Amino acid sequence: MSDVRLRFAPSPTGFLHIGSLRTVLFNYFIVKSLGGKFILRIEDTDQKREVSGSAEKLIEILDWLGIKFDEGPNIDGGYGPYVQSQRRGIYDKYVKELLASGQAYHCFCTSERLQKMKEDQAAEKLPPRYDRICRDLKTEEVEKRIANNEPFVIRQKMPLEGEVAVYDELHGEIKFKVENLEDHVLIKTDGMPTYQFANVIDDHLMEISHVVRGDEWIPSFPKNILLYQAFGWQPPKYIHTPLILNKEGGKLSKRQGDVAVEDYQAKGYLPEALINFCALLGWHPKGEEEILTLEEIIKEFKVSDIGISPAVFDIEKLDYMNGMYIRKKSVDELTEMAIPFLVKSNFLEVRGEDFINNLTGEKLDLKFIKQVVALAHDRLKKLSEIGELSEFIFLKKPNYEKDLLIWKHNTEEKMKQNLIEVGEVLEHIPAEDWTKYSIEEALFSHIKVKELTVGEMLWPMRVALTGRKASPGPFEVAEVLGKNKSLERIKVAINKL
Ligand code: GLU
Repeated sequence: MSDVRLRFAPSPTGFLHIGSLRTVLFNYFIVKSLGGKFILRIEDTDQKREVSGSAEKLIEILDWLGIKFDEGPNIDGGYGPYVQSQRRGIYDKYVKELLASGQAYHCFCTSERLQKMKEDQAAEKLPPRYDRICRDLKTEEVEKRIANNEPFVIRQKMPLEGEVAVYDELHGEIKFKVENLEDHVLIKTDGMPTYQFANVIDDHLMEISHVVRGDEWIPSFPKNILLYQAFGWQPPKYIHTPLILNKEGGKLSKRQGDVAVEDYQAKGYLPEALINFCALLGWHPKGEEEILTLEEIIKEFKVSDIGISPAVFDIEKLDYMNGMYIRKKSVDELTEMAIPFLVKSNFLEVRGEDFINNLTGEKLDLKFIKQVVALAHDRLKKLSEIGELSEFIFLKKPNYEKDLLIWKHNTEEKMKQNLIEVGEVLEHIPAEDWTKYSIEEALFSHIKVKELTVGEMLWPMRVALTGRKASPGPFEVAEVLGKNKSLERIKVAINKL
């Protein structure tokens, strides 16, 4: 078993949690840096918790992130099926082996009895543990009860004394007292294996070399190892990655923000940013530079550099990184990504090859959309902000109070006069020469000749064009709006004063 084979083994119980994204990525970095095979295995043995369609959605979102598998539900690598519910027959064989060697047993306890037992234990402040009443039933009795169609589960016999020592590549040896281990269920009443059982059998049969998963699975670790020992199999290497906490030190929860990767996708975070950000949740490159491409991470990633103390999920850092990645995109690339967000914000409609300004009914061309996107390029932290940032372009006319036009302690009359001058200067620029450079040049020479200050001239102009306190610069905005609209908006502002 010397080949490197890692697996991502999600349960299809809903969305892809941001913590699972970190798990899949760490697996991916290790597979790629060691040169191995990456396997997707769907762990759907808990059918009560299964959410239909979630496995497909999961595959879709991993695809969007650019995570590719070598084997999985739709890519046979000779170790399938890769969906646990399709492997039931396989688990039967192995549980029979454990029953035959006396390492597992039938348990006929009813759910009512187990419930009562739990309540009694809770009343006595004891941890909930199966009391092992069926552990030593005589073979004849077991056979009789099975023949009588009594429902049963199959439990693993845990050692009754001592400790179980397990080895994790990051944490080293971890010891568990056996009194804390329950004779856990391997096969449920409906014949389905539990996660604990199917997970180990499949890791073994799929020749998994490294199990990389979150720290929350450490309590399962001794159970896993005891199963390997019961079969006399060599366990894979285990790597438990640190917990991810929020800034307050609590668990990431839906209430405090997004935990589903789909939500980040919908808000316009880029795959590159999510990958880079999640890579740093528990791992740090040797150098100072934190903005790293997937290839760079893979090149640098070493298991020994993964930390063990909890990682902090800092959304501001993700926003910052996302902004950095947005800035790295060309205007063409960004436009392609931004169009669906402009459509979502209701300002834009795509009709075949054409674009329509939904607020004015005007027909727009791709060149114009690119200019709009370029205007927001430097300010975007996530693509979903494009609507809000460029709304003033799409509006028939911006909405603002006239007071906003006043620069510092100037008077209304002065601002009006300045706007009239701005209008005159702009009027003289020929339409075919309408660029931010010519607009800037014309206005600056006017400011100089008239010995005006930049603010008193350009502030009211910018507000007239955008209606906003903060926006891109007046020359860029004027260029995108075009000569006619710019002059129109300046006129509206003059009339306000
Ligand atoms: N199916 C488990 C999960 O949902 C896999 C845990 C493991 O990697 O062993 O995360």
